[in-house]
Amino acid sequence: MRKFLLALPILAALGAGVFFGLPSLLDRWMNSVETPPPYPASESARQLHDGLFIADLHDDALLWQRDLLERHDYGHSDLPRLLEGRVALQVFSTVTKTPRGLNYRSNAADSDNITLLAMAQRWPRETWTSLLQRALYQAGKLRQAAAASDGRLVLIRTRGDFSAFIQAWRQDPRRVAAVLASEGLHPLEGRLDNLERLYDAGFRIAGLTHFFDNEVGGSAHGLDKGGLTPLGRQVIARLEDKAMLIDLAHASRALIDDVLAVARRPLLVSHTGVEGTCPGPRNLSDRHLRGIAASGGVVGIGYWDAAVCATSVAAIVQAIRYSADQIGVEHVALGSDFNGTVHTPFDASGLAQLTEGLLAAGFSQAEIAAIMGGNVQRLLLASLPAD
Ligand SMILES: [Zn+2]
Repeated sequence: MRKFLLALPILAALGAGVFFGLPSLLDRWMNSVETPPPYPASESARQLHDGLFIADLHDDALLWQRDLLERHDYGHSDLPRLLEGRVALQVFSTVTKTPRGLNYRSNAADSDNITLLAMAQRWPRETWTSLLQRALYQAGKLRQAAAASDGRLVLIRTRGDFSAFIQAWRQDPRRVAAVLASEGLHPLEGRLDNLERLYDAGFRIAGLTHFFDNEVGGSAHGLDKGGLTPLGRQVIARLEDKAMLIDLAHASRALIDDVLAVARRPLLVSHTGVEGTCPGPRNLSDRHLRGIAASGGVVGIGYWDAAVCATSVAAIVQAIRYSADQIGVEHVALGSDFNGTVHTPFDASGLAQLTEGLLAAGFSQAEIAAIMGGNVQRLLLASLPAD
């Protein structure tokens, strides 16, 4: 008994070590790459790549206990690696709830992995029980990183912010614009007014659902996979009033149909595959691809296996080629899902390999510039809130 009592503090310390060390281990295991850096590319690809304004529509880095400003040898991105990959604009998404046993087919909404992750990462207590607080906390992490970055990471809230950023970037491209997005609108906690809190915290893009049906609408991976709820219809109207972009990644097919029918502004699908090259519950049908394009929006092609059916540059390029053939190059963009518990061919420092792949597939330099970021730049300049 005495020995046992003596062993207790040691066991507790060990347990705490495992508990608080687990998030970094998960980060390392679940945000992995097929090939570690460095990422060589041909001279012609490198030359073209270094002049591009590159934009990516989805990165979950804020979920993890990692200093965005420091280089890491795990995970997919941080400011040094974004700069090395020549990324000029990165959308950072906040993940606030994921179901236990997460899968692509069917998930109930009554369990949550993020509570334990929040505790293990020592997030503030209010984030343990509130999805809104989780979103606001992650937004705060991004604002703090931007404030400490010496102007190299810039949070974009308005068209004016973005125009000024582009001017500065043309003088010196060693800077990254950041746009905040919510992965699903469960952080509203069922209340339309909480949209104001998200807006005030800097959110400018709103995914409607993530891995489960929520108060706004159905998920591609939910139980019912329904369309817009009555609250969802109010939310769409409010998002459009506030010039926040609607992101249909993870939306059920019925939800995409409903939003296409009522939206008056361009729509995003921030990170997705397309059924034409990779059938799957969350990959876009040709009809929905055409709908997004008709809204004036863009589709961000993902880099991971369930999006493009392989972990390779060739598979990403094939999905981009297919989408461009269906809806035109001007509606196609990048949606890496970096740090979203996915396995990718490269990390953010390896993006020149994608430029090389697009060149090899016969895209012109102007088309590559549009896909790699020009389209997102155009959309945001036209759609962000005026000052
Ligand atoms: Zn996602």
